[in-house]
Amino acid sequence: MTRFVQDGPALRDPYTSDWQLQGWLERLLGPDGHAAAKGRLAALSADVLGPLRAAHHDAETHPPTLTRFDPWGARIDRVDVSAGWHAQRAAAARHAVVALPYQAAARDTWGAGTRIVQHALLHLWGPESATFSCPVAMADGAAALLTTAAPDSPWLARLTATDPAVAVTSGQWMTESQGGSDIARSTTTARPGPDGRWLLTGDKWFCSAIDAAMAVALARPDGAGPGSRNLAPFLVPRYADDGALPAPGLQVLRLKDKLGTRAVPTGEVRLDDTPAIPIGDPTVPGLARMMTLVVVTRLHNAAAAAGGMRRGLEYALSHAANRQVAGGVLADNPLHRATLGALAVDAAGAYALAAHAFTLLGADPTGDELRLVAPLAKLVTGRLAVASASEYLEAFGGAGYVEDTGIPRLLRDAQVLPIWEGTTNVLSVDVLRALTTGDGARPLLHRAEIAADAATTRLPGVADALIAATRRLAVDVETAAADPRSGRVVAGARELALRLGNTLTAALLLEHAAWAADRGDDRPALLASLWTLRRLGGADVSADLHTHFDQLI
Ligand SMILES: Cc1cc2nc3c(=O)[nH]c(=O)nc-3n(C[C@H](O)[C@H](O)[C@H](O)COP(=O)(O)OP(=O)(O)OC[C@H]3O[C@@H](n4cnc5c(N)ncnc54)[C@H](O)[C@@H]3O)c2cc1C
Repeated sequence: MTRFVQDGPALRDPYTSDWQLQGWLERLLGPDGHAAAKGRLAALSADVLGPLRAAHHDAETHPPTLTRFDPWGARIDRVDVSAGWHAQRAAAARHAVVALPYQAAARDTWGAGTRIVQHALLHLWGPESATFSCPVAMADGAAALLTTAAPDSPWLARLTATDPAVAVTSGQWMTESQGGSDIARSTTTARPGPDGRWLLTGDKWFCSAIDAAMAVALARPDGAGPGSRNLAPFLVPRYADDGALPAPGLQVLRLKDKLGTRAVPTGEVRLDDTPAIPIGDPTVPGLARMMTLVVVTRLHNAAAAAGGMRRGLEYALSHAANRQVAGGVLADNPLHRATLGALAVDAAGAYALAAHAFTLLGADPTGDELRLVAPLAKLVTGRLAVASASEYLEAFGGAGYVEDTGIPRLLRDAQVLPIWEGTTNVLSVDVLRALTTGDGARPLLHRAEIAADAATTRLPGVADALIAATRRLAVDVETAAADPRSGRVVAGARELALRLGNTLTAALLLEHAAWAADRGDDRPALLASLWTLRRLGGADVSADLHTHFDQLI
C-alpha cells in the first residue's frame, strides 16, 4: 500500500524572501542605512533558518522546571531551562537585539533609525525565539529606564552587552493578584535598608522570565501616598551578593501553567525584605519613570505580533503550495487565495504600525505622539495577531490543531499579546487618557489627511475612504477628549482606539505606497488600498484579494 504523506511547511529565508520588509527598510533607513544593516539582518536570518529553529523547538518541548528545595530542605528556588532557551539567550546577545539602540557605533550609523533596525531584527527572530523575545522586551525596557533614571548603574552595561557570557536580561514585576491593570492597589512595600539599598516586601503574581538575573519591581516606598503615581521602580537582583541563589527573602512560589509561551518560566514571587536598588529617587512619585519601561515593552509586543503574523503567513503559503484540494493546488483556489490574501494585508498593516512606533521611539521617546501610538500599536496588532493565528491554524486543516506540527503554538502564543502589558480595554482607556493629556491625535489625523490628499489622483476611492474616516475620527476624538469619563465615551473607547489605529495604519501604508509607486512598484499601493477599503470603508475586497494575490505576498 502506498500511503500519502503530506510535506510539512518549509521556511524561506525570512529576510531575503520578504520584499515588503526590504522596501520599508529602504525607505525608512535610506539606501545607505539599509545597506549598512544588511549584514546583520542576513546573519540573523541565517541563524533563524538553522540553529535557532532547532533551539526554538527544543525550548518549546522542554519547558522550564522549578526546584524549590535542595535534598536537605534548604530553599534554593532553582529554575532550570532547556538548552534551546540558553541558545536563544546567547543569540539575543550576539545579534544585539537589545543592545543595538544603546551602541554608539550603531547610533552613528543610523541615528534615530537604530530603533528601526532593531525592530527588523525582532521581526525576523521573534517567531522562532521560543518567546525569548519576552525577556528581551523587558531587558530593553529596563535598559531604557536605567538610561534615563540611573545611567551609572552597572546593570546597564550588562543588559546591553553582546557577549553572551556577560549579558543579562530582566524581569518586570508589576502585577499582583488583587490588581494587574489596577496597579493602584499594589501592596508591595519598600523601606530603606543598609548600603543605600531598600528592602521590598510583598507578593508578585505574574513574573515572566523568572530565570533573569534581575527584575524591575514596582513597590510603594515608606511614607509614599496612595494611588498608582506614588509607586516607584526598584531593581531586584535575583542573586545574593556572593552570587548564590536566591537573593535574601526572595522566593519563587510556583511556575504558572500557561496556555502558551511555554518555554518562558513565569513565576509567582514572594519578596520578604528582599534587597533592591531604587531606580531614581524613591521619594519622588515613580510611575512616570516606570512608563519608560512599559512603553518599550508595549512596542516589543507589537513587534512580536507583526513578526508572528508574517511568519504564520509564510507557513500557510508553503502549505497551500503543497496541498491538493478540489482537484488542484490549494494555492490556486480562489477562496483560499482571498483568505490568505486578507492575512497578507493584515500582516502588512501590523508591520507598518509596529515599525512606525519604533521610529517614534528612536526619534522622540517622550513625545505626545508615541504616548498615543504605543497603546494603539499594541492593541491593534495584538488583536490582529490572535485573529490571524486562528486563521493560520484553519489554513492547515486538521494538522493545524495537532501539537507536534508546531502550528497550534501560533495561536497559543498569540493569545498573550492582547493580555499582558495591558488588555485591549485597559489600553483603550489609556488611549483616552493620552487624548486628554497630550496632543498625539493632531499629528495622527494630520498624517491621515496628507496621505489621503496624496492618494487622491492615483487611488481616488481609497482617498475618499480615508478622508471620510479621518473626518469622523476628528469629531469623535474631540468629543472623547472633552468628557473622557462619561459612560458613553468610556464604553466606546475600544471602538475609538481601533479606528484610530486602523486609520493611522492606512496612512502609513499609503505613505509607503506613494514612495514605492515613484520607483515603479505598485504592490504596496495594492496592500494599502485593500487595508483602507476593508478596514475603514467596510468593503468586500475578496475578488481583489484573489485576483492580485501574487502581488500581496
Ligand atoms: C503569559 C503572561 C505573562 C505575564 N507576565 C507578566 C510579567 O512578567 N510581569 C507582570 O507584571 N505581569 C505579567 N503578566 C500579567 C499581565 O500583565 C496581567 O495579567 C494583565 O495586565 C491583566 O491584569 P489582571 O490579570 O489583573 O486582569 P484584570 O486587570 O483583573 O482584568 C480582568 C478584565 O477586566 C478588564 N479591565 C480591567 N481594568 C479595566 C478598565 N479600567 N476598564 C475596562 N476594562 C478593564 C480587562 O480588560 C480584563 O478583561 C503576564 C500575564 C500573562 C498572561
